[in-house]
Amino acid sequence: MTTVSLPPHPPMDVAGRLPRLRERMGAAGCEAVLVTTLANIRYLTGFSGSAGLLLVLPDELVLSTDGRYQFQSAEQLAAAGVEARIEVGNGSAQREALAAAAGAVPRLGLEAANVTWARQRSFAAEWFPSSELVPTEGLVEELRRVKDDGEVARMAAAAGIADDALAAVKPMLADGISEADLALALDSEMRRLGASGCSFDTIVASGPNGAKPHARPSPRSIEEGELVVLDFGAIVDGYCSDMTRTVCVGPPRSPTLSRMVEVVAASQQAGVEAVRAGQAAADIDRVCRQVIADAGWADAFLHSTGHGVGLDIHEAPFVSATSSDTLAAGYVVTVEPGVYLPDHGGVRIEDTVVVTDDGCRTLTLAPKDLVVP
Ligand code: ZN
Ligand code: ZN
Repeated sequence: MTTVSLPPHPPMDVAGRLPRLRERMGAAGCEAVLVTTLANIRYLTGFSGSAGLLLVLPDELVLSTDGRYQFQSAEQLAAAGVEARIEVGNGSAQREALAAAAGAVPRLGLEAANVTWARQRSFAAEWFPSSELVPTEGLVEELRRVKDDGEVARMAAAAGIADDALAAVKPMLADGISEADLALALDSEMRRLGASGCSFDTIVASGPNGAKPHARPSPRSIEEGELVVLDFGAIVDGYCSDMTRTVCVGPPRSPTLSRMVEVVAASQQAGVEAVRAGQAAADIDRVCRQVIADAGWADAFLHSTGHGVGLDIHEAPFVSATSSDTLAAGYVVTVEPGVYLPDHGGVRIEDTVVVTDDGCRTLTLAPKDLVVP
């Protein structure tokens, strides 16, 4: 087995993101912000290490990390065209460097959803005692909602890998393969095709297991005539794809199974057709839910309709009944209604789409055929 190498990715304007963040800091009530969420650090600098802190000052950018990332951090920031002072050292060296850099900043923003209580206390008492620490929410995440062409190209490449991986493993379904073995085959195929990893733990849920929306692949063998939910995604240059297909080896065992598939397919299609810039995310959820409710299965749609995708597999905006988000061009969201009946199984169909002014462009293109011959 040999791996495929992907063509070079189109450029992203990483450095152009920082001025947009700085514009938002004043409204958030702070002169500087300490970015602790790794995906946000990656978004702003290109640095993909597993440890680091990014101090965004009005006129300076300071990234601190440890020795493991001394060379990688410099390489990645240079490749992204981001100018920053990089401080490499152990915990106390990083604290001293960032404390000195923050100096007398009156109000320093922290990412409230990411900083633990213990860490906040340590930042207040030991790291930044002369600054007022201000909780901020979604400062960088709001920027991340709108994907630029380079980001969409990466997600399209990831989705294409997932499409191809599914096509490659589908023939194994007819051989009575177990859920776990099929999941492993999908994961390996995505890696072979150039993914750096899976967006999340692959779901292969057959028969009764399919009624649990996030079942873990088990040693259970996939049988003819039952529904199999396959939910998986690839990562390309940090960006995730997300797709669900429901398949069946041979014709479905019962009319109920066929009906479930029909209803979810209609619901999913109606949801995708409703996506366009300016549409309330809650409306997409309502459209999908209505089709399922009309079939009498309102209580069997056990989750919300979708979510944003990007550097994280689940990110803003959220497509749910309670969402206050409005879709905008460049958002990338999933539409993934499902019906789950413990006595029968489960159906979910999911596409990832890019919102445009007059509709959307689907990134996940694998055929939706139910029956695997
Ligand atoms: Zn999914
Ligand atoms: Zn999803």
